[in-house]
Amino acid sequence: MNHSVTTAELFSAKAPLINGQRLWQSLMDLAQLGATAKGGVCRLALTDLDRQARDLFVQWCTEAGCSVSVDAIGNIFARRPGRDAQRAPVMTGSHIDTQPTGGKFDGCFGVLAGLEVIRTLNDLGLQTAAPIEVVVWTNEEGSRFPPCMMGSGVFAGRFDLAETLAKRDEQGISVGQALQGIGYAGSRAVLGHAVGAYFEAHIEQGPILEDQGKTIGVVMGCLGQKWFDLTLSGVEAHAGPTPMALRKDALVGAAQVVAAVNRIAHALQPHACGTVGCLEVHPGSRNVIPGEVKMTLDLRHLHSDKLQAMVDQVQQAIAEACDQHGLTQRLTPTADFPPLDFASQCVDAVRDGAVQLGLSHMDIVSGAGHDAIFLAELGPAGMIFVPCEGGISHNEIENASPEDLAAGCAVLLRAMVSAAN
Ligand SMILES: [Zn+2]
Repeated sequence: MNHSVTTAELFSAKAPLINGQRLWQSLMDLAQLGATAKGGVCRLALTDLDRQARDLFVQWCTEAGCSVSVDAIGNIFARRPGRDAQRAPVMTGSHIDTQPTGGKFDGCFGVLAGLEVIRTLNDLGLQTAAPIEVVVWTNEEGSRFPPCMMGSGVFAGRFDLAETLAKRDEQGISVGQALQGIGYAGSRAVLGHAVGAYFEAHIEQGPILEDQGKTIGVVMGCLGQKWFDLTLSGVEAHAGPTPMALRKDALVGAAQVVAAVNRIAHALQPHACGTVGCLEVHPGSRNVIPGEVKMTLDLRHLHSDKLQAMVDQVQQAIAEACDQHGLTQRLTPTADFPPLDFASQCVDAVRDGAVQLGLSHMDIVSGAGHDAIFLAELGPAGMIFVPCEGGISHNEIENASPEDLAAGCAVLLRAMVSAAN
């Protein structure tokens, strides 16, 4: 396309204007780096494969005329200038690291949808007032180096840079060493950058859009999360000679807590989730009464008061289980994210984009964490969800249709241009 398009023409166009084929091809090209036999991707943060993926992104952005900078935690910023260099950039992005058995779309879609927005603006000859930036956030998954959402957390001032650079993987390699190793320990300061607005396109990672037959999820906000480690201690004893009435069986108490977490979340619908994901039983011998159980608790709700009520009820259930079975407990908080409402102007911009394009859409909330949660602390933020097959992600079979991805990208284009003008 060689003719220029005005902003007004962009907003009245029913055609998506973005190049869905080009977006899809870029996703498939990126997925080659760390491709697994089962059709997924294994590209852990700050590995050589991550470097190759970063290099490819930088090459694509440079070819699209962007200036590229890298900050001290390795976040990559590709900027397309606006008419007014004084204005804070309208940003988009996500991550290109994956889970060990990850898919092609989680994170990568948000980054490459942003690149496709820039390529489209180039094709259309359309200059925005504010600059446009596409960002690759370092280590969103947190698989190799906990915590997750590392790069955006440092950028938002939530995580201290020096402490984060000192975090080590299981081999003892620090984040700082790994960044040096792949050549992405950049010089741009991590703090103090104004954010005009931030949008993130992402596969839903859940089954709701597919179930409801909708193409676009207008993300209203994110569930708050409270995570805990719980240890229940009883007494190890022989499974034969110890009568039932005299046992202090930590696993029986733990089973009660697992059931309570599930029951409490069911009772606080909608928007409540409660999960025990890990359970370690000691000593783990078939003829020994378990003396100690360690478990993780993951509680989520859209409303702070309900989230606190879940915590209170779970604590009560733990106390009852301990009473009943003669156990002692240790409950340690490990993560705490308050519920988040995205800025109404960003939510509206996403919904308006879907309406303009005649796409089916619905309001939705995110149950998962995303880089947008930290960006929302720096400026107005919003997210766009598209369906993924069977709601499955963090899995090599993760899949999404080229049409839905193109639709999400077309909405992103409109939301960003409207925020940048
Ligand atoms: Zn993920």
